[in-house]
Amino acid sequence: MNKEIDKLKEELEKVRSQLYVFYELTKAMRTTLRLDEITYIILTGLTANEGLRFNRAAIFFVDDKNKEINGFMGIGPIDSQEATRIWQSIEEEKKNLYDLIDNYNRIRENKERPKFLELVKSLTFPLNEKSGLIFDTLYKKDLTWIKNENRKFKNDSLVKGLNLEEFLIFSLWIKGKATGVAVVDNYITKKPITSEDVKIFTMFMEQAQGALENSQSFESTLTQAHTDTLTSLWNYGYFQYRLDEEIAKSNTTSLPLSLMMIDIDDFKKFNDSNGHIQGDQALRQISEVLKENCRKIDILCRYGGEEFSLILPANNKKEAALVGERIRKSIAGKKILKSSFTISIGIASYPQDSANKKTLIEKADQALYKAKRKGKNKVVLV
Ligand code: GH3
Ligand code: MG
Ligand code: MG
Repeated sequence: MNKEIDKLKEELEKVRSQLYVFYELTKAMRTTLRLDEITYIILTGLTANEGLRFNRAAIFFVDDKNKEINGFMGIGPIDSQEATRIWQSIEEEKKNLYDLIDNYNRIRENKERPKFLELVKSLTFPLNEKSGLIFDTLYKKDLTWIKNENRKFKNDSLVKGLNLEEFLIFSLWIKGKATGVAVVDNYITKKPITSEDVKIFTMFMEQAQGALENSQSFESTLTQAHTDTLTSLWNYGYFQYRLDEEIAKSNTTSLPLSLMMIDIDDFKKFNDSNGHIQGDQALRQISEVLKENCRKIDILCRYGGEEFSLILPANNKKEAALVGERIRKSIAGKKILKSSFTISIGIASYPQDSANKKTLIEKADQALYKAKRKGKNKVVLV
């Protein structure tokens, strides 16, 4: 009888703790609309001791444009050594759910690069049957539970990529569309997954799906609101916002950043002889060429009219000058609407040329003006 009471007590305690997690996490998920932050909260809930207690959790998202499924984020130890270290520090420092969620700021500021996170982010699967389990689960709209004794999947690309044994995969459907998957396992402790775990995991992921849905729609509205309609580049407002962000980042990482102002030479002449509609078309095509010639991490914006700005994170002036020269040549060497165009470029760097955003933009503008005075089709550094 006593044994039964103990068991019931234990059960009750478990339900109580699960309710707490659901309550706290739903609350936390509502504090932000940022996809990365919500994902981190979800992964924390899946792995925390006060949460669902899986050893590791990872989320993958579909990239429709490139037809890939990419690792987005993961929480968990990479091996048992790291597990002991992490779990001990959580215990000793008495970290609660909110402290764990707060860890994300350290990761975002690049102060910490957890190995499992790096591993997850390095994984990419093509969005087709060849990817096996991850692709199949994605479209199954259901949960997949692969038990330990099931060796059928030992050569599966996801299983190999994460070194999985027994694990659960949940497919995330957002607004009627297969959007990603969440994977959890007990890699270190090898604790078997129970049907109770599966139940609570499913319930939790259904909640998480709702939070992700809000976030995703938010992100796409944000993207739309910040995109220039003629060129599809980022607009002036987004430029100002990102330059603030990148300057803040540069302050924490102590890496420089460069700013490039780009202006099309004699564009008025083209407009006057070819008309405004052709002018718009030329602007669109020039934007494409500019985009092709900067890197993925660079932020290319339409500053206004026929003027563009490019933020080059982590680049000093010398590096930016090389990019500038490449961009200048790429335009000068192309026929656009059967015409030849050239551009002038001015470059300033932070913190070398200015200690704040406003003067940084002014300095880059002055350099651009100098390029015009020196005969156009030139790159000028402050
Ligand atoms: P400079 O080499 O000194 O830059 O000469 P410019 O003629 O390019 O410069 P200016 O600033 O005098 O004129 C810019 C012209 O760009 C004015 C306008 O005809 C054209 N322009 C600006 N925005 C647009 C646009 O959205 N569409 C079209 N078609 N033309 C634009
Ligand atoms: Mg111009
Ligand atoms: Mg201009």
